[in-house]
Amino acid sequence: MKTVSSLLDEAWYARYKRISKLNIRSSIYDVTNRCNLRCKGCFFFSSGQDKAAEEENRLDRWEAFIDREMVRGVNLAILIGGEPTLFLDRVDAFYQRLPTFCATNGLIKLPRDRFPDLMVGISLWGDESDEKALRGKDTFAISSRHYAGDPHTYYLYTITPKQIGKIENVVRKIRDIGVKVHMQLLSNDEEVDGFSWTAQELNDVRYEMDDVLDRYPETVISCKYYHEVITSGEMLGRPFGWNECPSVTEPYDTRDPQPKRLIHFIRWASDLKTMHRCCTSETRDCSTCKDGAAHMSWVMVNKRAHIRSTKDLQNWIEVYEMFAKLYQFIPW
Ligand code: SF4
Ligand code: SF4
Repeated sequence: MKTVSSLLDEAWYARYKRISKLNIRSSIYDVTNRCNLRCKGCFFFSSGQDKAAEEENRLDRWEAFIDREMVRGVNLAILIGGEPTLFLDRVDAFYQRLPTFCATNGLIKLPRDRFPDLMVGISLWGDESDEKALRGKDTFAISSRHYAGDPHTYYLYTITPKQIGKIENVVRKIRDIGVKVHMQLLSNDEEVDGFSWTAQELNDVRYEMDDVLDRYPETVISCKYYHEVITSGEMLGRPFGWNECPSVTEPYDTRDPQPKRLIHFIRWASDLKTMHRCCTSETRDCSTCKDGAAHMSWVMVNKRAHIRSTKDLQNWIEVYEMFAKLYQFIPW
């Protein structure tokens, strides 16, 4: 029988042991329904999640809710929105209690004296012209001033088909301000013309992602297996989609048979009562879903399936390490 130790040499086994000690139990929280941008293709607004619930305004209720979440076993809070930095007291309520990650568009600077080591992921949708087309603004010009050289920040670079041939320029800009970058792919939820993927474009973007990882290993937090899985939508010959997705809110998960999934995962709306279907859009057709975190988690929850060859298991370890770095469980 193949086992982890029989497939790995000493160095890889040490890497495996380091991550196998982590017992990450994440959930996702809409900190607010408001945002200071309205991006074309934003899953939150395009699927009506901003109207799904009345926002809870009392801070003591947020605090009590977070305490209950910790009792439920959550040890990683992923804050999204809307724009979480519009409500820093809510962000602080999480930050004071448990490991926390904050997604932001970077237009408001998180005060580092209040949040010295909060991991910040800044959304970026391409170069200046794509950002203007999709978000109405060159956000990098602002966020790069706020976060240059910040060791607890990375750009979450959502690559669109228009970015093919231009990814290196964006990565270099990020490298030059001393920040890391992680890549994912746009799911074109609002069907903006020219922003849906063709099979050829997905193939091309995979090789470009591999190339920037090879050439900027100090800047790009990624691995080639992740690029393969997210661009092909396949893992070990299995197609991604509703039947396989690991990031479905647990009480909504009536799938039978149930696939491997994130334990106790819930995506909470900002009333702290309503739940959304999954980590992303309520209305997205799962067969078109390119959500980066869902694909990463898909690999991570399927460890057993990767214990079939040394390469498969090493691929699994690299994806797990990437996730652990992005959420500050291990150093960059
Ligand atoms: S900044 Fe984020 S939450 Fe706000 S509209 Fe854009 S994608 Fe949506
Ligand atoms: S939209 Fe994506 S993340 Fe949500 S359930 Fe479907 S496949 Fe999973």
